[in-house]
Amino acid sequence: KMATFERSGGSAVRNVKKDNDMSKVTFETSEEVDVTATFDSMGLREDLLRGIYAYGFEKPSAIQQRAIKQITKGRDVIAQAQSGTGKTATFSISVLQMIDTQLRDTQALVLSPTRELAQQIQKVILALGDYMSVQCHACIGGTNVGEDIRKLDYGQHVVSGTPGRVFDMIRRRSLRTRSIKMLILDESDEMLNKGFKEQIYDVYRYLPPAIQVVLLSATLPHEILEMTNKFMTDPIRILVKRDELTLEGIKQFFVAVDKEEWKFDTLCDLYDTLTITQAVIFCNTKRKVDWLTEKMRDANFTVLCMHGDMPQKERTEIMKQFRSGESRVLICTDVWARGLDVPQVSLIINYDLPNNRELYIHRIGRSGRYGRKGVSINFVKNDDIRILRDIEQYYSTQIDEMPMNVSDLI
Ligand code: ADP
Repeated sequence: KMATFERSGGSAVRNVKKDNDMSKVTFETSEEVDVTATFDSMGLREDLLRGIYAYGFEKPSAIQQRAIKQITKGRDVIAQAQSGTGKTATFSISVLQMIDTQLRDTQALVLSPTRELAQQIQKVILALGDYMSVQCHACIGGTNVGEDIRKLDYGQHVVSGTPGRVFDMIRRRSLRTRSIKMLILDESDEMLNKGFKEQIYDVYRYLPPAIQVVLLSATLPHEILEMTNKFMTDPIRILVKRDELTLEGIKQFFVAVDKEEWKFDTLCDLYDTLTITQAVIFCNTKRKVDWLTEKMRDANFTVLCMHGDMPQKERTEIMKQFRSGESRVLICTDVWARGLDVPQVSLIINYDLPNNRELYIHRIGRSGRYGRKGVSINFVKNDDIRILRDIEQYYSTQIDEMPMNVSDLI
């Protein structure tokens, strides 16, 4: 287990409001679903239970109370829950329950859209499975292929990867699919979107026909739900209503600017607020991330920067610095929008408004993890306010003008 990860994982349970609104969420399910209120009563193996408690979890979250049982029964499951409410742990616990560590074969495949997310999942699985002698490999692009082949040859019970490299390893017969019995698509709406869909089907074609499929995401638009019958068998749906998707704990604001240039000054004015805990600033393009980073550094502010055109080594180093809290402010593209869990992040800035409604939910969900408080601030230029009002209406939420005392809310 990596020390830096321990820090964020271990701190997960502190500072969490008891009885936060997370537990009051209502789910729409396609059939009656049992609610299992404790980990003890889920019928999990002893060595796994021990790992769960050692990791610091005491009580399952709402989605865990509903979905783990269904997945471990072998059902195909479509699970939706708000950002930061324990979906990763939901499928990680389920996968660990389902694998046979006596075998060497790969039995579960988890696919996710970014390398950092695939790595984070690998670490969660290894941590929860700490007492199970489980082998879990992160199979991602930008890393040494020979090393991947060696690790897979050794035998990996679980593979957590990005579609491109995973497919490559399957074609080379380094990743043998014969014993894979579960396919997990994390951030599944993104995985089934234009950019990834073909790659997912490429992988899917190599998997045994009886494969169990589990989809998870905070956002699951209609178009995506409609296509699930193509590769799922009688799936059970556990879904959150759209108007309950934004978290109570995350306060949302906007700052109106007349000119794009004013955004920069606004950001500089907010810098002290950004560093109260940790903050993530989103721009819509890699170029803009580079530009803003340089401009902030020229003005003597300390910031990290990350996007998909950077070498993997550098991305990994940035993640390490940000996870450890060594650096507090990160400027990035949507490579950071989904799934990443750094509990200390409490402020999100949309320097540019996101390009779609789903991304908005995912971006602001980088804060307010597991019932913590969060603040998100949207920079809006003239007509952007229309887009923001649309988001507000779509999710039945409230986005007010930023108050003077915003730092008191963090
Ligand atoms: P999601 O995938 O829904 O965005 P995660 O699974 O990443 O959420 O969980 C968010 C945070 O909450 C993580 O830091 C995780 O360790 C923590 N967490 C998850 N489940 C529990 C639990 N049952 N008790 C305490 N903390 C939890």
